[in-house]
Amino acid sequence: MPAYEYICKDCKKITEVRLSFEEKEKGLNVKCEHCGSENTSQFFGNMMVAANFPLH
Ligand SMILES: [Zn+2]
Repeated sequence: MPAYEYICKDCKKITEVRLSFEEKEKGLNVKCEHCGSENTSQFFGNMMVAANFPLH
């Protein structure tokens, strides 16, 4: 099962989750493991995403 990284827009922390393709296709909200927020989006770790969601 592939692992995906999601970034929380509230606390800016990364949550790593393992989802099957079926689960991912449903587009379900990933819950932040740090603050419990569902205001998350997939994090690809590239510069453009990092610029949109500064971690520091
Ligand atoms: Zn959070």
